[in-house]
Amino acid sequence: MGNNMNKTKIAVIGGGPAGMLAAGHAAELGAEVTLFERNTLLGRKLGITGKGRCNLTNDCTPDEFIKNVTANGKFLFSAINRFSSADTMALIESLGVPLKTERGKRVFPVSDKATDVVLALKHYCLKNGVRIVCDRISELIQKADGTLSGVRSEKKDYVGYDAVILCTGGLSYPITGSTGDGYRMAESVGHTVTPRIPSLVGLCSDDFVCRETMGLSLKNVAVSVIDTKKKNKVIYRDFGEMLFCHFGISGPLVLSASAHLRPMESGRYLVSIDLKPALDAQALDKRLLSDFEKYKNRNFINAFDELLPAKLREPFIKLCAIPTDKKIHSITAEERHRICELLKNLPVTITGFRPIGEAIVTSGGVSVKEIEPQTMRSKKCPNLYFAGEVMDLDAYTGGFNLQIAFCTAHAAAEAATNADAFE
Ligand SMILES: Cc1cc2nc3c(=O)[nH]c(=O)nc-3n(C[C@H](O)[C@H](O)[C@H](O)COP(=O)(O)OP(=O)(O)OC[C@H]3O[C@@H](n4cnc5c(N)ncnc54)[C@H](O)[C@@H]3O)c2cc1C
Repeated sequence: MGNNMNKTKIAVIGGGPAGMLAAGHAAELGAEVTLFERNTLLGRKLGITGKGRCNLTNDCTPDEFIKNVTANGKFLFSAINRFSSADTMALIESLGVPLKTERGKRVFPVSDKATDVVLALKHYCLKNGVRIVCDRISELIQKADGTLSGVRSEKKDYVGYDAVILCTGGLSYPITGSTGDGYRMAESVGHTVTPRIPSLVGLCSDDFVCRETMGLSLKNVAVSVIDTKKKNKVIYRDFGEMLFCHFGISGPLVLSASAHLRPMESGRYLVSIDLKPALDAQALDKRLLSDFEKYKNRNFINAFDELLPAKLREPFIKLCAIPTDKKIHSITAEERHRICELLKNLPVTITGFRPIGEAIVTSGGVSVKEIEPQTMRSKKCPNLYFAGEVMDLDAYTGGFNLQIAFCTAHAAAEAATNADAFE
């Protein structure tokens, strides 16, 4: 392992946000680092984050951060306290990228360009002398004593390393290079990989409302997720923007809601959309009464010309189960209450998640029970470390997933560089 005479030699597998920060920081601390990336470009996924704007962290306290981590938040206690959101922001700004904080403490580059963050991290690696090798690593090379000596690709063996940091990411957006290679490598040295499911992902539904309103985006709605197997308990509620699409529903509200639908079972969850969250039932009834008075001689089919977007009117009327040619003046109080109820609780039955390849993050991965939380060091293989999404860690939207990558990478880099100090 590293000593005063020789520099610690570290191989980092994967040039995403976790890999670049781990490599750059280990090199900054004095290690001799090689970063292996299968693509010819570093950080391909990072470059498309935040709709191309990169919500790189959330300007919150470590405690708030942990509350926003969906799986295994406590595991991150040490890492986030040693490299917090403020540290991420300071690092990225020191690399020449000014930042701004938006609604919900979401942090973005002032330029709104994710590529600025990619280039900054690449520069961080290069200025500290990281050697970047474009090759797809397929295996860890393990010695008889169980430690790793290096890594192997289809082309060649790279040996002579004191430590390996595995940062190959999850399974989502495989076109960016994240195809789950790291899971196999971790398993090959005895790690358990927990089942991987999509998170922050669109939700499928066979309901005709979704099909018939495909493409319609609703702003300023509230969404509640109801678990029918838990006495109709509301397991999530938020306000914002959503989208109807060919498969069901999506958009920011739905992606956030999706992290709460566990375990996924077809038909178990109901997403209830409040189309008029600013009005309570009484105020909405008043509004309906006044609209219905104004249009009393029209047919029911025209009842919602002012209240609902055009695409939603027909499917909504179908749901009301009131004949379309019924005169508005003959709508009964009971029917009006039913309409009110539907406007406040438009139900969409969820049949499943969209495929993991379309998810923003992968939930599940290398079990954190087999990783030391202070150092990100493997408990199965003494000179193997992990950082980022390859581990069984994921969070809500808001910059938390990238902060997971950064704080775990920082911890792994420190520990791998000073490996002796942790023996
Ligand atoms: C569309 C989209 C938008 C997102 N927006 C945000 C956002 O705004 N904020 C946020 O916090 N999170 C966001 N995320 C999530 C975030 O991008 C990930 O959590 C984060 O990129 C994980 O970082 P990572 O370094 O662990 O893995 P990755 O970013 O997946 O990087 C892994 C790298 O390893 C390389 N690699 C894989 N296998 C090998 C191999 N065998 N050999 C060599 N290299 C290999 C890959 O090519 C890749 O470059 C978004 C995700 C998506 C898909």
